[in-house]
Amino acid sequence: MAKIEREKPAHAPAGKSKEWNFHPALPIAMSPVFDVPPKPKAAVVWLLNTWTTLTPPVNHLICALVVFYFLWPDMAEIHTLDAGWVVRIATINFGAILIFATALHTYLYILAGQETRLKFDVRPMEKSSRFTFGTQVWDNIFWTLASATICWTAWVILYCYVAANGWVRTLDSFAQSPIWFVAFFFVIRFWQSFHFYWIHRLIHFPWLFKNVHHLHHRNVNVGPWSGLAMHPVESLFYFSGILIHFILPSHPVHVLFHMFSLSLGAVFSHAGFEKLLVRDKEAMKAGSFHHQLHHRYFECNYGSEEMPLDRWFGSFHDGTPEATKRIRARKKLIFARK
Ligand SMILES: [Zn+2]
Ligand SMILES: [Zn+2]
Repeated sequence: MAKIEREKPAHAPAGKSKEWNFHPALPIAMSPVFDVPPKPKAAVVWLLNTWTTLTPPVNHLICALVVFYFLWPDMAEIHTLDAGWVVRIATINFGAILIFATALHTYLYILAGQETRLKFDVRPMEKSSRFTFGTQVWDNIFWTLASATICWTAWVILYCYVAANGWVRTLDSFAQSPIWFVAFFFVIRFWQSFHFYWIHRLIHFPWLFKNVHHLHHRNVNVGPWSGLAMHPVESLFYFSGILIHFILPSHPVHVLFHMFSLSLGAVFSHAGFEKLLVRDKEAMKAGSFHHQLHHRYFECNYGSEEMPLDRWFGSFHDGTPEATKRIRARKKLIFARK
């Protein structure tokens, strides 16, 4: 196995292969921020690129700002547990998921707006008794709304109540600490990747996989509604990333940005298409091939492109056939131990 790991991955331009209807350039790009030896220029370019084009984080920030300025309840109102603001937050979360996941699913899968262009796996959404209600889409919608969105909302309500009562340090405005206000968005991106890797590894332990995470992994091929199709225990773990805001001083825009990155981010990263095309022009980034590989090969890519934890711990699949061989060998070892 060690011998295979030393092999250099073959490079391939974006396109079609035996395994994929479409794949990005291989091996897939990872953030160079943690590269050794350090590549400061590449790291700065990667970090700035995240914020200078219409990337998912930019969309999540726009959503966070719109919600904060136009829809968010008053902090004074949140002081006491009251149905008014609780229902308002629930409405925002359910509304956001329904709008974005429905729009994306309708465009890509019902209207077939870009047919199979830039679609990773050409297979359609499944109809199978493996899924609740016998169809992948209704199953995924059910678990997204009845499990993940409820858990996400519960975490946000808890945070708001604790913050409004002054039990954790908060940031009241940009002017209070402009450097921290901006820097925290970068910290959240790394934290999200770090936290996701570890909770994801945890739920790949056999008992938790069989009883919890299996529900998400029934989706070997994924669509927008698959992103948050999670067991309640997984949902609880997944959104527990919010705990960072109980420790580090946060503004509601930070919390909203973080929660939209986890929720809407999962809807888009599971879209199944690399990018959205509008009139044949690339409109924006959508699916994550890094995570699509996890859904096909299971025991790889537990984290994301932002931190090389998979590379450090030997579970990185870079999309090349060499990596597939290595991950299959790893899987055999894992299952031999069970
Ligand atoms: Zn998994
Ligand atoms: Zn997934």
